[in-house]
Order: sequence, then C-alpha cells, then structure tokens
Amino acid sequence: MIIYSAGQLKEELIDTGKKLVDLRLVVATWGNISCRVPKTGHFIVTPSGMPYHELKPADLVTMGRDGDIVEGTRKPSSEVLMHQEIYKARPDIHAIVHTHSNFACSFAVAGSPIPPILEEMAQLIGGPVQVARYAPPGTRELAEHAVEALDQRNAALLANHGVVAAGRTLHEALTVAVLVEKCAQVFLGAKMLGTPHILSPQETHLLRENFLKYYGQKR
Ligand code: 13P
Ligand code: ZN
Repeated sequence: MIIYSAGQLKEELIDTGKKLVDLRLVVATWGNISCRVPKTGHFIVTPSGMPYHELKPADLVTMGRDGDIVEGTRKPSSEVLMHQEIYKARPDIHAIVHTHSNFACSFAVAGSPIPPILEEMAQLIGGPVQVARYAPPGTRELAEHAVEALDQRNAALLANHGVVAAGRTLHEALTVAVLVEKCAQVFLGAKMLGTPHILSPQETHLLRENFLKYYGQKR
C-alpha cells in the first residue's frame, strides 16, 4: 500500500471535487469530501460552500480527531461532524464522498433502500444501501443516523438529502458514489421492466469476501 503525503492527498481531494461536478453528482457547491491523513488521526475536509473548480490546497481544512482545526483558515464543511463520526466508527474507512446525485436522491426522498442487485455493488458496497433516518443537515443527529445506516457497508442514503459513499481511498469512495447512482438508476429501470432479482445475503457476502481477497493485482 502506497502512503501518500498530506500535500498529495490535498491535490487528489481537489481533483475528486472537480469530478463530482463534472460527473453531475452534485450541483454547484453541494456535497463534500474528506480523507484521513495516515498516522496522524487527522482528516482533511473540503471548506463549506466553495466552488470545487476554484479550490486550492490552502482552502482545505485539516481536522483533529475531536473536531479541532489543526490546519487551515476556511470554515470546514457543514457536514464535518458526519465525516468525523464515520471515521470514529469505522477504522477501515479512509475517505468519504458526500453527493446529492439525482437517481439516488429519488430513493432518498421515497425512503426506499437500494437492495444488492449488481455484482460490483455487492463487491464494493458490501450490501444494501440503507436510508438513514431524517435529520437536518449539519447536525449531530444526521451524523449518528449516517453511521447507523452505513453499519459495516460503504454507502448509505440520507433521507431527503443525498448519498454518503466511503472507501479505503479517495478513488474508491468516488467509485462508490458513482456506483450508488448507477445502482439507483438500474434498480428503477429493472422495477419498470418487472420484478428485479435481488442477490441473496449469502451471494452478496461471497462477492464481497472474494473481492477483498482476490480482486485486482494482489501481491
Ligand atoms: P458544505 O458546502 O458546507 O460542505 O455543505 C454541502 C452539503 O451538501 C450539506 O449537506
Ligand atoms: Zn449534503
């Protein structure tokens, strides 16, 4: 595993932000992104309400474990508490991408979870995308509901709001965010065509385990 410096992570975080806009996963300044800084217990987060295409490394905010600002002069994302609580609950997660993407938002508004329907969903997300109970944005309640809905998986919907996607790297968290949107669209299409076949918990578990153990260029 390559260990990136805080400077490299800031560049990657800004690139990820530009992709959120370019892939239409967010409109304008909505959504937010963070990643852990290895070996420090800190995480870097986007500033609140700043356009992604204009972000410079100095605009990013480095947070300590308990919500203190370690570096940066900008106001951190209004969802900083959600990022903080997810990192506390999930040592395996190193990056978080929060989007407001369209098809996923349809499910978040309907209060409908997205069941495991595609193999890459089982592999990367590890199960259904559950809907967190509603809470206003930026609140501790929202942070707690997001942690609860994620459980041991890598994505959840925030009721009437959007998506939380997580991963071991920024690249993986962005892939999860794209995948949640794809699954929401595919599930809606499958429902229009008939009765979708849902992967069983056993099939889902096996796909996830094999993905973690064998997928890609393992050494
Ligand atoms: P920030 O710009 O403060 O990160 O807020 C955007 C958002 O999506 C709130 O849920
Ligand atoms: Zn949001």
